[in-house]
Amino acid sequence: MKKIILLLMALGCFFTTANASKWKAEHVVMIGIDGWGAYSVPKADIPTIKQLMDSGCYTLKKRSVLPSESAINWASMFNGAGTEMHGYTTWGSRTPEIPSMVVNERGIFPTIYSLMYEQCPQAETGCMFEWEGIKYLVDTLAISHVAQAMGYNEQPDQLCCMAETYIKEKKPNFVAVCFDQLDHVGHVDGHDTPAYYRMLNTLDGYVARIIAALKDAGIYDDTIIILTSDHGGINKGHGGITLAEMEIPFIIAGKNVKQGGAFQETMMQFDTASTIACIFGLKQPQAWIGRPMTQVFSK
Ligand SMILES: [Zn+2]
Repeated sequence: MKKIILLLMALGCFFTTANASKWKAEHVVMIGIDGWGAYSVPKADIPTIKQLMDSGCYTLKKRSVLPSESAINWASMFNGAGTEMHGYTTWGSRTPEIPSMVVNERGIFPTIYSLMYEQCPQAETGCMFEWEGIKYLVDTLAISHVAQAMGYNEQPDQLCCMAETYIKEKKPNFVAVCFDQLDHVGHVDGHDTPAYYRMLNTLDGYVARIIAALKDAGIYDDTIIILTSDHGGINKGHGGITLAEMEIPFIIAGKNVKQGGAFQETMMQFDTASTIACIFGLKQPQAWIGRPMTQVFSK
């Protein structure tokens, strides 16, 4: 019976894809910037990102879950749950230190990729990153294309190049592109420093290139772009309970997204996954506590 239900859900999604009637957009590109504190946005020279803020909706008060570390928050961003539930508790967790409250048939707390795989098996999905820690959190066996940029030191824009190529060749329905370098600058030079803002400006250029790739691929008008982060930072670190470490941007723009500016609703890290699930009409598991930011959509 369960198989029949899954088959029906998959078929429903197939026809949905064909008709594009229930999806708010055929494509979602989520760009994640590690260590991007919301405090930096007003001061930063990031014209492309500010253009997305002007054309869509955003909050500079999305909160990370605690502790405000990387693996914990990348996990919550993708899996719609809090630390106590998914069980990843340290900056570099590869397996949950607390057993996950539920696991799927691949043995991992269900992520947005798990939902796409089970409910829309025809969908093309990608997860691309510089920090390998992300691959332990996302349910890689449910993802069409997993790729790590290995050569940042020789080629700083390698991840951006990989994303451009993947978007043009595969026109993915959902891809997350996760940049790590801002977090490094935060640890070495410090947050809220000239070097930090220089790196943000560089990343803004990568965002512009990814948008150009969407236009080259002919899918820009049917795409929703999301920009967000795992956590912010203060001085040369993060993990604490200051708002500089916990408040992160969430920016969304594109097809069927209102030009609404800053929204006032509260948003948590785990609401990110639910918002993406909402775009694709995916039923979220009971174990998720994320709330979709439905107010940002025009329909
Ligand atoms: Zn991080």
